[in-house]
Amino acid sequence: MISVRDGQNQILSGITAVVAPELLPVTRALGRVLAEDFQAPIDVPPADNSAVDGYAVGSADIPATGTRELVVIADLAAGSVFDRALAAGQALRIMTGAPMPAGADTVYPQEVAERHGDRVRVGPLAKGANVRLRGEDVEAGAIVVEAGTVLRPQEIGLMTSLGAWQVMVRRRPRVALMSTGDEVAEPGTPRRPGQIYDANRFALRGSIEQCGGEVIDLGIVRDDRAVLKARLGEAAAGADVVLTSGGVSVGVYDLVKEVLAEIGAIDFWQVAMQPGRPLAVGSIGGTAFFGLPGNPVASLLSFMLFVRPVIYKLAGRRTLFPESWQARALEPMSKKVGRTEYKRGILRFNGGAWEVRTTGPQGSGILFSMVAGNCLIVLDEPRGDVAAGELVTVEPF
Ligand code: AMP
Ligand code: MG
Repeated sequence: MISVRDGQNQILSGITAVVAPELLPVTRALGRVLAEDFQAPIDVPPADNSAVDGYAVGSADIPATGTRELVVIADLAAGSVFDRALAAGQALRIMTGAPMPAGADTVYPQEVAERHGDRVRVGPLAKGANVRLRGEDVEAGAIVVEAGTVLRPQEIGLMTSLGAWQVMVRRRPRVALMSTGDEVAEPGTPRRPGQIYDANRFALRGSIEQCGGEVIDLGIVRDDRAVLKARLGEAAAGADVVLTSGGVSVGVYDLVKEVLAEIGAIDFWQVAMQPGRPLAVGSIGGTAFFGLPGNPVASLLSFMLFVRPVIYKLAGRRTLFPESWQARALEPMSKKVGRTEYKRGILRFNGGAWEVRTTGPQGSGILFSMVAGNCLIVLDEPRGDVAAGELVTVEPF
């Protein structure tokens, strides 16, 4: 038996390469991992500008008490530049975002200024009010997005605000995927007696895509040594990771491990976890190989624990594991000491605290438990049965 933590560490220490970078237009970079630090080429904002619609003035013209009348010499729109300097006694009508003219350092919001024809009457105001200073958001040269960051809409907006239209990101790690087993049938086709429709390949496809990988779908492979061998060799040639599901337990037709022993290297692990105990970990050429268990919950869970961090590491991400929180258990939960158990839970915020209950039956074939749930309840190895009211660790899906 190997612990989940030791298994993860051992697998990740074997992943040393990062996939190649590629240059993409910003419009296609959402969700990608930035390959190099992004430095601001310019100040943002690039010039001092008005934060409001109003009147720009020089602070020498601001009355300490009472009011004063100034001459409005022009109306300036956002995007245009006033090319002369403001003289004493003058004001410039200015719009939000328009650059401050020379001679002005303060802006009166239009609501506090009284306009009469070409005059405006103003009162006391702090020097520098309502002006956004050059470089106040970002200074030229600063690293504004670090390598290894997954690009969200806000990072993309920040980079385009700095004039970028292409960014260097990691290509998507390629993950070849197949289901194994004569009992597995393709959805949308007739099912023979004794067959079940393929759940794993489609749940895993989605999981790979969700974590930024590119899927190479190799379909269902029969329990046939020659076919499996050919398909696995082919898969490894074009992928960074090869994934199978089914065929790693100790049944007669569990060929995956025999074939892998021939064309690559394989370790057959019993992981101290529930569900999902058997896991095959190996390599074909330079490609990482994972043989996930056939039971749908076990295969998805094994993906989350062992494959997702590998895809993240290959993609150059800085964070490989999800965040976890604490919640109050609403019901007792049975738990065996000496293994990590993952129950599917329903987490909600109630009366000022987070609380969680299980989704009901937790068998490793009950995929509906994942559908009904919104989190994993993670019960560590040393822990025994959980009483209602105790704190447990949760990882939202
Ligand atoms: P195995 O690991 O091949 O012994 O499979 C364990 C269990 O998972 C068996 O009940 C299989 O029928 C089931 N199973 C295997 N592959 C799939 C699949 N792709 N989709 C749904 N269930 C599967
Ligand atoms: Mg099988």
